[in-house]
Amino acid sequence: MPSGCPSRAIGPSQRPMPGNFQQVGFHRDRLPAPARFYADEGVRLLGVGRWRDALCPFHEDTRPSLRVLLETGAFRCMACGTRGGDVLAFYQRRHGVGFVDAARALGAWGVMP
Ligand SMILES: [Zn+2]
Repeated sequence: MPSGCPSRAIGPSQRPMPGNFQQVGFHRDRLPAPARFYADEGVRLLGVGRWRDALCPFHEDTRPSLRVLLETGAFRCMACGTRGGDVLAFYQRRHGVGFVDAARALGAWGVMP
């Protein structure tokens, strides 16, 4: 007798019993490099050095108020106070999604090795 797929009706991401499925999770090493991520987001990083300046997308910014740490993707706006520790945090804030959705969108969510 075929086992079928009884959980199909509620969608693959809301399966109630994870037993037969591969473990999925977050892979920080698959996150895009901060420089590439911010370019893809249309945020132009200005200046040189570890901390870059950019126009803040979280408020009506007329001069670059956003500081971005190139190594980690951490960001902080000196005008509106929006801040976060990495590109994931930026993506979540900007697109209004949760951690898992942001990780998926950035290619950092998948089957664990
Ligand atoms: Zn701001």
